[in-house]
Amino acid sequence: MPAKQRQNPLTQKAPGLDKVSTLLAVSSCKGGVGKSTVAVNLAATLMRTGAKVGLFDADVYGPSLPTIVRPANTDLFSRNELILPLDYEGMKVMSFGYVPAAAGGSGAAIMRGPMVTQVINQLLTGTEWGELDYLIIDMPPGTGDVQLTLTQIIPITAAIIVTTPQELSFVDVVKGIQMFDKLKVPTVSVIENMAYFQCDACDKKHYLFGPGVRQRLVDQFGIKNSFEIPLVPDISRLSDAGTPLALEEPDHPVAALFRDIAESTITEIRRLSEGGAGAPQMRFVIGRGLVATWPDGREQDIAPADLRRRCRCAHCVEEMTGKQLLDPASVPDDIYPTEIHPMGNYAVAINWSDGHNSSIYPYDLIASLDANA
Ligand code: ADP
Repeated sequence: MPAKQRQNPLTQKAPGLDKVSTLLAVSSCKGGVGKSTVAVNLAATLMRTGAKVGLFDADVYGPSLPTIVRPANTDLFSRNELILPLDYEGMKVMSFGYVPAAAGGSGAAIMRGPMVTQVINQLLTGTEWGELDYLIIDMPPGTGDVQLTLTQIIPITAAIIVTTPQELSFVDVVKGIQMFDKLKVPTVSVIENMAYFQCDACDKKHYLFGPGVRQRLVDQFGIKNSFEIPLVPDISRLSDAGTPLALEEPDHPVAALFRDIAESTITEIRRLSEGGAGAPQMRFVIGRGLVATWPDGREQDIAPADLRRRCRCAHCVEEMTGKQLLDPASVPDDIYPTEIHPMGNYAVAINWSDGHNSSIYPYDLIASLDANA
C-alpha cells in the first residue's frame, strides 16, 4: 500500500515525482560506512519482491552509483522537459555521475551548500520516475545544512540510517535521528554495517569494533528495527564489479539479511500509512501526574517520579554495563516535567523539575508501565 506523503509545495508540483508512492532516504553521518551499498542492495531486494523501484544518488561530490550499478545504456534522453532515468535490470537509476560534464555533471563538485541543494532537487524532481512503489534516495553523507534542506524540500516518507559499530557511532546515529526528527521524518531502521567478521575456519562472529549500539537504540529511542551486516569481501567484490550482491547472489546469507531489512521497511511504511506508530499524547495534570492519551482514547496515568527513576540516559545508567547510577531515593516524589516533546515516532523526551534534561522514553516502555503505577 502506498505510504502517505508529507505535503510539500515544492515537490508536490514536481511532475517527475508525482507517481512515486514512497520516498526512502538512506543516510549516514560519515562517508565510507556502506550507505550506498545498503541503498543499492535494499533497492534490488525490494525490486525482487515485485515492487517498482528507483534509486537516486544524491551525492554530488562523490557519486558512487555509476560504479556499483552499470546500466547497459548510459545515454541520457529527455521527454517533455524531464530526463528519462537509466534502466538497470528493471530498476530506474539516476546519479550526477551519469550527467555529462558539459551539462554540469562534474561542475557540481565545486558548488557550495545552497546551490548544491538546488541542483540535487532539480535532478531529482526533473527526472521522469514514472510509477514507482519505492524511490530510494542515497543521501549525501552528513547531517549538515545540505542534508537538512534536502529533508525539508523532498517529501521523504521515512529514513534508514547506516552506521558502523564504533563507540562514537552512537552519537552519529542520534544526530541522524534528530535531523530527520526536526522535519517529522521517522527513522524506521538503523543498519550497523561491517558489524562483525566471520572467518572461513570458524563459526564465531568476531566483533572487531565492539558490540555496537543496537540495544541502546531500542532502550533510548524505541527503534526496534536494527540490523547487523557483516564485513564480507563478496559485498565489495560485487560492488566493484557493478553487480549488487542482492541481485547477483540471492542465496548469499547477506542477501537474506537484506530481505529482512526490506520486509521490516515495508511493514514500518505500512504502519505509518495506517496512522503512524500509535504514539500517545502526553501531558502533565496537577493532582494526576503524567497522562498518556493513546490513539484509541484510553488514558494512562503515570507517576512522574516513577518515570524519572526509569531514565536510561548515560548519567543515570552506565552505558556499557547497564549498571544503575541514579539513586532512586534522590528523585523527589513531587518531581514534575517542565517540558515534554515527541522524539521521533517511537519515543518521548522529558525535561524534569530536578534539572535533569532530555530523558528519553520509548512508547513501548510507557505502554508497559502499570496504568496505576
Ligand atoms: P558510503 O556510501 O557510506 O560512502 P559505500 O557503500 O560506497 O560507502 O562503501 C564503501 C566501501 O566499502 C565500498 O568499497 C563497499 O564495497 C565496501 N563495503 C560496504 N559495506 C561492506 C561490507 N559489509 N563488507 C565489505 N565491504 C563493504
